[in-house]
Formats: sequence, structure tokens, C-alpha cells
Amino acid sequence: MARVKQLLVVLSCLALNSRFRELVDHNRSLAFSGHWTKRRELDSRLAHKLIESAEAFVFDLDGVIWIGGFLVEGVQETLEDLRGHGKSVIFATNNAMRTRSEVASRLKSLGLDWVMESDVFNSANAVARLLEARGISKDRSIYIVGEAGLRDEVQALGYRTQGGPDDAGKSLKDIPTALERIDPSSFGAVVCGLDQHLNYYKLALASSLVRNGVPLFASNDDLFGQLGPGKHQWPGAGSVLAAVAAAAGRRPPLADATAGKPSLEFAKLIEHSLDIPARKMVMVGDRLDTDIAFGNNAGMQTLLVLSGVTSRAELHRAQGNWVPDYVAASVASLGAAQQ
Ligand SMILES: [Mg+2]
Repeated sequence: MARVKQLLVVLSCLALNSRFRELVDHNRSLAFSGHWTKRRELDSRLAHKLIESAEAFVFDLDGVIWIGGFLVEGVQETLEDLRGHGKSVIFATNNAMRTRSEVASRLKSLGLDWVMESDVFNSANAVARLLEARGISKDRSIYIVGEAGLRDEVQALGYRTQGGPDDAGKSLKDIPTALERIDPSSFGAVVCGLDQHLNYYKLALASSLVRNGVPLFASNDDLFGQLGPGKHQWPGAGSVLAAVAAAAGRRPPLADATAGKPSLEFAKLIEHSLDIPARKMVMVGDRLDTDIAFGNNAGMQTLLVLSGVTSRAELHRAQGNWVPDYVAASVASLGAAQQ
């Protein structure tokens, strides 16, 4: 009888040991896939820790700060609290259609009256700075395929521009004369951004310049954006870039330089301007392929808010640098930590 008991004890131990190993392996695979170490729900304890650990919060705009022309509920109080705790609060957007000054004015008009132009980082200014950083001479013109905001930010750094809104009304019949007059050697770059007034004329001129050796720059390379509660997809700056590059006969990589999220150049611009290292920043965004990839690439902590375009199902399917450290319903969850 004693032997049977002993045998039972040994068998139980073996069973427990095997179950224990299974659990260890399961947990290890969860940790490896980022289920535990990342994608953590931002409760008030984690939010408090996150705020303590950071010096700056970088907020995307659409779907995070505002939706359809209104501030997301709780944004005003949360941002003011963060600032009250000595945190830098800035905004980083891939939208190159407006200047930083116009974005700052819009934020002010929505009630964030402390926002200054220097608190806004956009891909229009970022690509203009990239022209400088890559040594594009200011003696040469920049051909713009984009909106007034892109043109104005490029001009603000001392470049002369052609194209952009000036070529909005042109068409096929204007192309032959333009191509005869144009001298590619007088152009320093073609810069592409989202262009609601993209037309055949701009496509012909920009692609002709690129085919003749003019470098191709892009404000950002998002192929599409998402709009409205139905999350309709619409072509982004990356689609404009792809059209110009295709017409110029280019194969990937399409652009010689790309600014905006998720590029590291954009992160460096923000680090340099704030004089704060990326590891002391938190990127707060609603899009995995731009905001979260951007923050992760740069070494920031990342917080996905579900107030914008990303669903829980999409978050669950995310892999690699698309996986955020933290998840919250909205920016208001950061404010809840400070109650
Ligand atoms: Mg967004």
C-alpha cells in the first residue's frame, strides 16, 4: 500500500511538473509575442507610471485630439494636467495640406489657447527641412505636387517653388509648352504631398523632372487615410508619390527621401527641437502603421488610443513595430491617472 502511495505521489509530481513546463512555455510565447510586455490596458496605475517616466507627450491629431472638427472629450483637461506636471505637449501630424501655424490656430480655436506654432510638427515642414539636410541648393526651384501648406512651408525655408496650387487649373493642352520651357537642371527637387487638386499636368511635369534626374522627396508615404465614422479610405500622400514615381518609371524605393511618420528623420527633428531624447517621449496615436510604428522605431513609449481608426481586432492582429506598449480608449485615460 505504501508503495502504491509513493507511486501516486511520484506520478502527481511528474504531472505537475509537465503542467508547470507547459505554463512556462505558454507564458514565454505570450511575452515573446508582446501580449504581456506590450498592448497593456492603460489603467490609472500604469498611466501614472507612464506619466512619471516621460518628459514629453507627442500627440497625433485626427482621431486622437480631434474628430470631425471637435476636440475628443477630456482632451483639454488632460493636456492641461500634463503641462501642469511639467511635461512638454506637442503635436505631430502627417497632414501636409496646412502650415504649422494654421494647425496651431485651429487648435487654439478649439480651446487649446496655449498652443504655439513651435508645438506643431508636420510633414510639410519636415520635408522642407529634409531638403536642407540633404543639401538641396536654394538657388534651384522646388516643384510641388501638393497643397498650399506644403508650398508655404517649403518657401518659409527660403526655397523658390513652382507647381502646387499655381498649377491647379492646368490641363493636357498646357503640357507641351511647359515641357519645352522647363529646364530640369534649374530644379533641386520634386516634393510630393497629399494633393486634392492633382491633375495630369502636374503628373506630367513632376515625372518629367524626375525622369531627368531631379530628386524625388515625399512629405510622407501613407498610401491612404481614413475618414469619418465609416472609416472610408481615401488616397494619401503615398498614392500621389506612387503616381509620380510610376509615371517616371521608378521602382521602389519610390522616393529619394521621405519625411513624416514613421520616418526616423521626423523623430530626430522632434528630439532636436525639444532637446529631449526619444526614450523620454510617449507617442500617442490612433494609427498602427504611422503613429505606433513611428514611436516604436524611434525608441519612444507608445500608446494607442481607440478613439480613431484602429479597432481592437486590428490591434490584436498587429505584429512587430506596429504593436503599442499601451492601449486606452482615448486620451482622457491619461487624465484619469492624475485625479
Ligand atoms: Mg490619426
